[in-house]
Amino acid sequence: MKLTDPTQTLAALIRCRSVTPAEGGALTTLSTMLSELGFANDRVTFSDEGTPDVENLYSRLGTSGPHLMFAGHTDVVPVGDEDAWTQGPFGADIIDGEMYGRGAVDMKGGIACFVSALARVIERSGTPKGSVSLLITGDEEGPSINGTEKLLAYAKAKGETWDAAVVGEPTNPDKMGDMIKIGRRGSLSGTLRVDGVQGHVAYPHLADNPLRGMVSLVEALLDPPLDAGNERFPPSNLEVTSIDTGNTATNVIPARATARFNIRFNDQWTAESLAAALRERLEQAGKATNTRPGREPVRYSVDFDARSSPSFLTRDDALIEALSEAVKQATGQTPALSTTGGTSDARFIKDYCPVVEFGLVGKTMHMVDERVALSDLEILTGVYEKFIEGWFERQSAGAEAR
Ligand SMILES: [Zn+2]
Repeated sequence: MKLTDPTQTLAALIRCRSVTPAEGGALTTLSTMLSELGFANDRVTFSDEGTPDVENLYSRLGTSGPHLMFAGHTDVVPVGDEDAWTQGPFGADIIDGEMYGRGAVDMKGGIACFVSALARVIERSGTPKGSVSLLITGDEEGPSINGTEKLLAYAKAKGETWDAAVVGEPTNPDKMGDMIKIGRRGSLSGTLRVDGVQGHVAYPHLADNPLRGMVSLVEALLDPPLDAGNERFPPSNLEVTSIDTGNTATNVIPARATARFNIRFNDQWTAESLAAALRERLEQAGKATNTRPGREPVRYSVDFDARSSPSFLTRDDALIEALSEAVKQATGQTPALSTTGGTSDARFIKDYCPVVEFGLVGKTMHMVDERVALSDLEILTGVYEKFIEGWFERQSAGAEAR
């Protein structure tokens, strides 16, 4: 295999059936490629009660600093309706300039391009002056319990430290060069429960309809807006995802109502400050009587999920510049610096070193006929090549200036 050719490195990875949590040969294939480039591989399996064991890979080239990390995952989501695929989901077939396969963009493609970029850099000018490591999990599309979070802690315990990281998840909405992610919104989910008294709709004075109280409480969650956003982040947003009583009759007032909601929040909040603000809103709204004339305050409880994720913003200008400059050179486009979208494993990495994200175009991820244009593979390989060289140059220039 020619490691400098991303169509070859990607085809080898796509042909491994690594549907979460199966390793499927993907980490073995990647380790073999990395050994060829001089990396030292460390394969480690993590376990936790109630979740499947997951294999992970930490691989490092070099022993000195500065130290650049590339992070990603070789696991993929299930193929779904396999008959609906026009090409085999693990075949890596190329039709009209596009390679088909589960994981083509999310995110075996990102990994393949990084490996090929590194192979080109090494071929052209030798190993970088410092270290490069790959931190690769098989648990990103699953519960994410036996993956990146544990692998980072494991590597740190062995003395590993990093100066910067890039995550190769698909970040471009339409075309290569659209968008770099320099942070992410946080996520917090909650459940609101209102208790009433069940009864006949014709005799409401004998009952207490929990939906009356629920309407006031939900309105208080939605209005006024949480904030107006800022330079780097869109406004925080709360979505109510269900309001349910389990009631199928139109002549029965239900005994209780439950609402579920999720907030995607910017860096003006922590999960704690947000939960406190929402509890305060509910407390005030629970006392209001407009929807429940003459009644006692609403009887309710609210619970926030313990597994929230924080918002973060990367402030390492040299890292952001090195990546933006590489994207500009390879695509001719100035990428937007964005914090939009869902959460990613960058939320764990940001506790260890500054992290940015750039990868392929995300349009077909998780879909039937997931596929990537070969020209996009070439562009991303070019971006990573220029990024690796530019980042190490900036590091040595910075060291001389110091
Ligand atoms: Zn992914």
